[in-house]
Amino acid sequence: MSTATPRPAAPATTATWHLGDIAVHRVDEIELPRRTGPWLLPDATKEVLDQAPWLRPDFADAEVPRLASHSFAVEAGGLRILVDTGIGNAKPRANPAWNGLDTDFMARLAAAGFPPESVDLVITTHLHTDHVGWNTRLDGRDWVPAFPNARYLTSRTEWDHWAAVDLDEARTQMFRDSVHPVRDAGLYDTVAVPEQGHEVAPGVRLVPAPGHTPGQVAVELCGSDRRAVITGDSIHHPVQLSHPHVHSCVDADSAQAVRTRAGLLDGLADTDALLLGTHFPHPTAGTVRREDGRYRLLAEPGTQQPTTAGA
Ligand SMILES: [Zn+2]
Repeated sequence: MSTATPRPAAPATTATWHLGDIAVHRVDEIELPRRTGPWLLPDATKEVLDQAPWLRPDFADAEVPRLASHSFAVEAGGLRILVDTGIGNAKPRANPAWNGLDTDFMARLAAAGFPPESVDLVITTHLHTDHVGWNTRLDGRDWVPAFPNARYLTSRTEWDHWAAVDLDEARTQMFRDSVHPVRDAGLYDTVAVPEQGHEVAPGVRLVPAPGHTPGQVAVELCGSDRRAVITGDSIHHPVQLSHPHVHSCVDADSAQAVRTRAGLLDGLADTDALLLGTHFPHPTAGTVRREDGRYRLLAEPGTQQPTTAGA
């Protein structure tokens, strides 16, 4: 597209975490611009960041939190599963950080062992623009499913919520280019996600994580050696471990989001379960420890590999 912005700089590595019989790869899209932190997490001020020195240098610079966009590519039970699909290329977006991207995300995904036609399942944690972008790609002038052999899944509560509300133009555009082409191809399924969760593949469960949106899910991975939880946007940034009340400006229900965060962190704390942050910059993952009445992340960078694609 003529509106394409120059390719953003991106880290030249990918990372893999092994949970026994399940493997998770982070596939990078972009680091989000520095202005994103203060906009998204207005309460994550320098003073708040100063109270959690472990956030620096990886998760915050001197002033603001760092954020990233990536997907998690999961191998479980012989299936290739993508959890969220980032911002996407060439999408017309009001947010300049998301508008008309031109990244080599698909080449990185293929280099991680996930060529598009091999993907079996695409999980959408919630129906926001930066989680559905690579659901589709341009074919001529048409948006078509990027993973033609996959089933796409999201929670029924999430789907029904957005179907029932009046959408502004930005959201209408998102559904038009990133959701409805998949639905119209008959590839989007919705599932009821009860309190105890819903297994969608061997060892892969959707669990309710409402607050940021009404039907958001987190994704729990139960490998033979280890458990992990992919946050979606229930935890945008590690500062929300030390300060769970730091809210995102786009949370639909902040109080519910705090309750969801508290439940997730309580279940992870002082175990060897891995927290995988959907917007956490490198090193992206870690275990959760209680310390001085707060939580902190003990980072685990995974196995780093240079990407063979682009970058
Ligand atoms: Zn997001």
